[in-house]
Amino acid sequence: MPSTASTQLIHSAQEARAAVEAAKQSGDVIGFVPTMGALHEGHLSLVEASLDVCDRTVVSIFVNPTQFGPNEDLDRYPRDLEQDLQRLEKLGCWMVFAPSTEEMYPPGSETLIDVGSVAGTMEGAARPTHFPGVATVVLKLFQIVPADRAFFGQKDYQQTLVVKQLVRDLSVPTEVVVCPTVREADGVAMSSRNAYLSTDERCQALSLWKSLQLAKQLVAEGVTDVTELNRRVQQHFAAFPGVEVDYVAFVEAGTVQPVTTIDRPTVMAVAARVGKTRLIDNQLLNGA
Ligand code: AMP
Repeated sequence: MPSTASTQLIHSAQEARAAVEAAKQSGDVIGFVPTMGALHEGHLSLVEASLDVCDRTVVSIFVNPTQFGPNEDLDRYPRDLEQDLQRLEKLGCWMVFAPSTEEMYPPGSETLIDVGSVAGTMEGAARPTHFPGVATVVLKLFQIVPADRAFFGQKDYQQTLVVKQLVRDLSVPTEVVVCPTVREADGVAMSSRNAYLSTDERCQALSLWKSLQLAKQLVAEGVTDVTELNRRVQQHFAAFPGVEVDYVAFVEAGTVQPVTTIDRPTVMAVAARVGKTRLIDNQLLNGA
């Protein structure tokens, strides 16, 4: 769609599906970017990736309660629909689907999707109800917005694996496209949750990106033993007293299988609490 056309804001699932189906009937390729709003450049890069290869782009904005644990930040999660709409309009997004919680989860909703082992480690171990909530809302969104392609960020590495597993196992006819992590100038991965950080915490948050850089450098220098890499990474974090590391994982790229030696493409994933804010980041350590 040309960027002069105005973006339609739809709250009703039925209306959204009807509009998407009509556009598909007319031969348009539909791209879809599911988000929780408070949009930043990371989200917008997914929208741009969709605009590049699809005729019409749909963005959903829904802070999904089922993917938050009982003591997590659901209530204080940043919300700014007005500003999100302005940004999406400017880019030339065709539709914003912004349902209410009742629209997505009418009274009596009980089904939760369990995608199996890919959701069991790392984020899944730290946040046991998170991926069932993610998988359920993504499947529901794919039913409402039956897009040809859906765009997700590498920033949430394990989430991309969960969504791919879901799509494969449940025969969802949507292609999953994973786009690179967009970072601030100093390397910190963009995240809606960065808005929670105080000035000091923002400095401490840099430790996640620095830990990934350190590991990458060590691997380039020939350190391939994961025990040694872990030791050096933990030593690095010890210099950041405001950071409580949740996990550092080294997994075979495209999986959640831990490796003991960096002898194949490996993703390093890290999760840490900076003050009250839980941040995650990841990076491919070595090339092909
Ligand atoms: P969220 O609103 O946090 O649920 O994220 C919506 C989508 O944007 C997910 O596919 C995220 O992986 C993606 N995303 C979030 N942050 C970034 C980033 N810094 N770079 C690229 N994609 C991102």
